[in-house]
Amino acid sequence: MTAVSSAPPRLLLDALSRPRGPALMLGHVHPDGDVLGTLLALGLSLEAGGWSVTYAGPHPVPPVLAFLPGAARWQAWRIPPRTFDVVVLTDCPNPERTEGLLDAARGASSQVLNIDHHPDNRGYGTVNWIDPAAAATGEMVFDLIRALGHRVTAEVALNLFTAIHTDTGSFRYSNTTPRTFRIAAELTASGADPALVSDQLYQRRSPEALATLGEILGRVKVSQDGQVAWLTVPRGFASEAFLAAEDLVAYPRSIEGVKVALLLSEEAGGLVKASLRGKGQVAVNRIAHRFGGGGHENAAGCTLRGTLEEATAALLGAVSLALDGKSP
Ligand code: 5GP
Ligand code: MN
Repeated sequence: MTAVSSAPPRLLLDALSRPRGPALMLGHVHPDGDVLGTLLALGLSLEAGGWSVTYAGPHPVPPVLAFLPGAARWQAWRIPPRTFDVVVLTDCPNPERTEGLLDAARGASSQVLNIDHHPDNRGYGTVNWIDPAAAATGEMVFDLIRALGHRVTAEVALNLFTAIHTDTGSFRYSNTTPRTFRIAAELTASGADPALVSDQLYQRRSPEALATLGEILGRVKVSQDGQVAWLTVPRGFASEAFLAAEDLVAYPRSIEGVKVALLLSEEAGGLVKASLRGKGQVAVNRIAHRFGGGGHENAAGCTLRGTLEEATAALLGAVSLALDGKSP
C-alpha cells in the first residue's frame, strides 16, 4: 500500500497502534539528522507504549549527532543478528541504501513500514507513506507520533527538532514552510532547545577542524559563467567525522549567481561521493538519477566510480547540459 499524503495513512496507524513482536528502526547509509532523529523519536515513543525496539543501520552515528537522545543505543551492522516482526525505515528512498540490511532483517511475514519525503521513493514497503511536501521526515514523524496518541517527550522533541533543523539548513532552505515552523514551535514547547541544537551542530569545532575548513575553502572553483561552483576533497584530506559535521557543499552554494553547487569527496575503492545542490533553476535530482543516485529537486547525491578528476568532469558535463535546458 502506498499513500502520497500529508496525513499518516490508516494502515500505518494500524500497524503501530499496539505492541507486536520486536521492531527494528533501520537507518540508511551515512545516517544524518533526519534519519537518526526520526528513528530515535519514533522508537522511543513506541518503547514508551510497550514495544521492544532495536536501532541500527549500516554505519554508526557520526560524533556530531551523538547528542541525540537514544543515540547510544544505535548499532552499526554488517549482518543483522536476527529478523524482526516490524521494520521501520525513514528518509530512505530505496532498499539499496540499507546495504542489504533490509532484506536480511525482514522475515517472510514482517511488516516493512516505509516513511519518507523523497519524491523518488520506490514504495518498497508493506506500507508506504510518502509526503514530498514535507521539508523533513521529521515533520511526518511528528504527525505520526501525535496521531498514535503518544506524548511528545523532551527527548522525542529534541530528536525531531534536530531532524527538521538539519534538513532545512537551519530553516533557511526553500523547503521551509509554515508547517515547518508550526511543528518546530510545538517541539520547542515540548522541550527541544534550539540553542542547544545549534550549539551541538555548529559550535563544537576543534581548532584543527577550523584550520582544515580554511584549507578546503581555498579549493572552491567557479565556472567561467559563474553558474556552477564545486569543491573536491581528495581522500585523506579530511576525516569522516569532519565531513559529517561540516555541510561543505553550502560554501560553493553560497556564492552569488551560482545555480548548481557540487561537493565531490573521494572514498575508498575508487569511488567518489557527490552532493548536488540547486537553487530552484535546475532539478539536481535529475542529474543525480543519471549517475544512479537520487534526492530532492534542490538537494541530491550520487556515487561515481573513477578518480576525483573523472567524476568532476562527468558531473560538470551533466550540469552544463542541464543548464542549457537539455536533459542531462
Ligand atoms: P547529501 O548530499 O547531503 O548526501 O544528500 C542530499 C540528498 O540526496 C538527500 O536527500 C539524500 O537522501 C539524497 N542522496 C544522496 N546520495 C544519494 C544516493 O546515492 N542515492 C540516492 N537515491 N539518494 C541520495
Ligand atoms: Mn530527509
